Amino acid sequence: MNMKEYIDEAEAALLHTYNRYQVVLDQGEGVYLYDIEGKKYLDFVSGIAVFALGYQNKEYNDALKAQIDKVIHTSNYYYNVPAIEAAKKLKKVSGMDRVFFTNSGAEAIEGAIKAARKYAYLKDGQTDHEIIAMEHSFHGRTMGALSVTGNPKYREAFQPMIGNIRFAQINDLESVKAQVTEKTCAILLETVQGEGGIYPAEEEFLKQVRALCDEKDILLILDEIQCGMGRTGTMFAWQRFGVKPDIMTTAKALGCGVPVGAFLMTEKVGQHSLTSGDHGTTYGGNPLACAAVSKVLDLFEENHILENVNSVGEYLSRKLDELVEKYDVFTAHRGVGLMHGLVSGQPVGDIINRALNNGLILINAGPNIIRFVPPLIISKENVDDMIAILEKSIAEE
Ligand SMILES: *Cc1c(COP(=O)(O)O)cnc(C)c1O
Repeated sequence: MNMKEYIDEAEAALLHTYNRYQVVLDQGEGVYLYDIEGKKYLDFVSGIAVFALGYQNKEYNDALKAQIDKVIHTSNYYYNVPAIEAAKKLKKVSGMDRVFFTNSGAEAIEGAIKAARKYAYLKDGQTDHEIIAMEHSFHGRTMGALSVTGNPKYREAFQPMIGNIRFAQINDLESVKAQVTEKTCAILLETVQGEGGIYPAEEEFLKQVRALCDEKDILLILDEIQCGMGRTGTMFAWQRFGVKPDIMTTAKALGCGVPVGAFLMTEKVGQHSLTSGDHGTTYGGNPLACAAVSKVLDLFEENHILENVNSVGEYLSRKLDELVEKYDVFTAHRGVGLMHGLVSGQPVGDIINRALNNGLILINAGPNIIRFVPPLIISKENVDDMIAILEKSIAEE
């Protein structure tokens, strides 16, 4: 079958919840993807901030193959070595104390919400606690995660949401304070907002929110699902500022392609929230997923991923600044490490489609922003190639 035929079959069989780009991807190699007709694409999306180590990393693939040949799944009612190894390593890189593995980012958010509510419940026995989340945030598509997602468009048809969620503005402490009541149990935010348009939380804001939480025994939940796992140049974005959350979520690059997420907490929250019988998952943290996590964390260290993010990230940032100078269509650039947004005064869909046609995979973050979340192994030469294709795609208008 050719590409067109596959796409027709897809549209006849899959539920149409995505307006997909007109390409059937087939293979990956390093920072490149190939479609089923053999056309090569430079990948600056990495499956939306997932495939951090690049495609066909031999050590990663070998670790998965070895685990497949041992056992793929057991159950959380038994211990398994990959989960123990993965949890130990995740604790070490995060400085958090307790790990619960999930199958996705949204599930990690669900778990974080439950842990925060239980923590507050154990304090006062009440069942009407409130959570403050941010406008323009994105936390996932399940009902709890959707309820804290600050985008009314995603929520509207699915009302009612879970109750007692209030919204504030990121980087506006007063707006947060205005939502705090004696029922507030948690403040939830992405350390760098991803889907909402690449808005990094400012250091001062984070520190003040942390102080506010400490003062009132409110839990700070940082969603590091997109901005974590090295993307901003530290393992987790909050580590740049030393503002430690009480609960943290991770997913996307955690397994580099194998579906896995986690929520982590401090010992204090761990001792006073979810306990036996409170939460569970059949697949979450199964040996295959955890073999991936474990190997990913090893490879981050062995391959000096953070150093690469810092040096290439700075280069990418400079190059994107230059585009803002050079082209009137771009009005601003935001981002940190290898997580950037190029802001336009108009929709960017056409530029992204032309880039795809020219062999470059990009994606938007909101209608007017081109998002850059490449594999964390990209080189400066890859950045130069990306910029050349992007400029060509701009000129084709
Ligand atoms: C992608 C994302 C999620 C949801 O993760 P899924 O694995 O798609 O459920 C939650 N929070 C943030 C910040 C994300 O980027």
